[in-house]
Amino acid sequence: MAQGHMIPFTSLAKRITESNPSMKITIVNTPLNIQSLKTTLSSFPNISLSALPFDAARHGLPPNSENTDTLTPVHTVRLFHASQSLQPHFHALIAKLIATVRKTPICIISDVFFGWAVEIAECFGIAHVGFSTGGAYGTAVYFSIWMNLPHRRTDAEEFGIDGFPEEIKICRSHLHPNLLAADGSDDWSVFFQKQISLTLKSDGLICNSIEEVEPLGLQLLRQNTGVPVWPVGPLLPLQWLESLFSGSGLRGDGKKSGIEIEKCMEWLDSKAEDSVLYISFGSQNTISAPQMMELAKGVEFTKTPFVWVIRPPMGFDLGEKFRPEWVPEGFGENKNGLLIHGWGPQLEILQHRSVGGFLSHCGWNSVLESLSQGVPIIGWPLRAEQSYNAKMLVEEMGVCVEMARGAGSRIDAGEVEKVIKVVMGREGKGQEMRRRAGEIGEKIRRSVRDDGEDGQRGSSVVALEAFLGFLMSKRELH
Ligand code: UDP
Repeated sequence: MAQGHMIPFTSLAKRITESNPSMKITIVNTPLNIQSLKTTLSSFPNISLSALPFDAARHGLPPNSENTDTLTPVHTVRLFHASQSLQPHFHALIAKLIATVRKTPICIISDVFFGWAVEIAECFGIAHVGFSTGGAYGTAVYFSIWMNLPHRRTDAEEFGIDGFPEEIKICRSHLHPNLLAADGSDDWSVFFQKQISLTLKSDGLICNSIEEVEPLGLQLLRQNTGVPVWPVGPLLPLQWLESLFSGSGLRGDGKKSGIEIEKCMEWLDSKAEDSVLYISFGSQNTISAPQMMELAKGVEFTKTPFVWVIRPPMGFDLGEKFRPEWVPEGFGENKNGLLIHGWGPQLEILQHRSVGGFLSHCGWNSVLESLSQGVPIIGWPLRAEQSYNAKMLVEEMGVCVEMARGAGSRIDAGEVEKVIKVVMGREGKGQEMRRRAGEIGEKIRRSVRDDGEDGQRGSSVVALEAFLGFLMSKRELH
C-alpha cells in the first residue's frame, strides 16, 4: 500500500497480460488506492480493478489513510494490522470469481506482507504466490531478521543472520528502531512474523529482481524459503518499462511533478555528461531540518551540479510550502542546482546522460531505476529493508558508497563533500563504480529482451514464462 509496492504490482500485471493475452488480472486493494490506479491502467483491457471496503477511521487511523506514504510509524503499524480486516471481503470476492470463471485456473498473487491471502487460497484449493516488491537479498535478510530477531540473542554490535553464510554480518545500526526494540510481542513483530510465516506457505515467490544481477540474494532466498522463486524484474513504472523494451526516450505526463518535465530536461541538457548528482529519498521519507542543512552545505562545497527533489523536513506537514531557511542562503538558486519541490520525474532524470550519481535512500525501485541506467549510488538508507539493500550494493555489487545510515544519522557537511567527490569522480573508485553500474545496467536491459539479435532470451522473460508454466500446471486442481 505504498508507491514502492503499487508500482511493481501494476508493472507485473502488465508484463503477465502481455506475455499471455489470455490471462485476466484483477488488482484488488482499498478504494482510494484503486482510484489512484484507474488512469494508469485504463488502457489495459485484461486488467480490471476491484475495491474492497475499508474505513480507516474505524481502525483509529486518520481519515482516508489507505497507504503508508504520509503516515507516522504508529499509524503505519496500525494500518498494517488493519489490512487484515480486508480478509473476509477478499474471501467473498474470490468466491464470486471462482463461480464466474469455473474451470479456469486461478492464482492469488499477494504482497508478502499480506500473508493472510494464503489462508484464502488454501480454503479454495487455489494457487498462491507471494510477491516481494523488494530485491532478493533485502527480502532474504528482512524475512530472516523479523522471524529470528537475532539481536535479542547477543549484546554484540555485529552478528550473523540466520540462514546466511557466517562471514555475512549485520550491525545493530542496520536495524530500524522498530526492529531494534522488537521482542516478538510488540505490534511490529506480531504483524510481520505472522504475515511472513503465512507467506512462506505459498507455492512460490515472485521477486522484483534479475537472476544475473542478484545471484547471491536469489540463492539465499531460495535456500531459506524452500519454495520456487521467479525473478521477473525489473518491474519498473510502466512508462519506464516501455523505454527499456523499445529503447525510446521517456516522456511521462509530469502531472504530479513539482516541475515541468521539459524544463527539467532543458536544465539537464545544459550540463556535461555524468556531471549531475540527483538527490531523492523516495516517496515516503524526509530527513530532519539539521540533516537537510548539512547535506545542502556539503553539496554546495563540492560545486557539483545537482537536482534535488526536496520535501519539508521531518516534523513539518508534507504539504507545507518550501521555506528558504531549510537550506543555506541562495542554495539551488544559481545555475548549478535545481530544487524540485515535492515530487520529481525521477524516471526521466535518471535516464538523462548528464546524471552521474544518485544520492538515494536505497528503496528498491530507486535502486533498480538507477542501476538500469548505469548510475552509481550514494546510499543513505532510512528504513524498511533499505540498509540491507545498501549493504548488498556496497559489498556484493561495488556500486555504492554508504554516506549515512538511519533517520537519526549525524550528517557532517565535510563528510558529505568527501563522499560526493569520490562517487562523482572521473577516476579511481568513482570511475570503477560507474563501470560496474554500467555492466549491471546492461544485464538488466538484456534480461527483458525477448528476441535479441543473437536469438538469446532474457532471464526475466524466461522466469516469467516459468511462472506462467507453473500456473498452467495448476489447472488440474479445478
Ligand atoms: N518517485 C518519483 N518521484 C519522486 C519520488 C519517487 O517518481 O519524487 C518514484 C521512484 O521513481 C520509484 C518510487 O517512486 O519508482 C519510489 O520507490 P522506492 O522503492 O525507491 O522507495 P519508497 O518510496 O518505496 O521508499
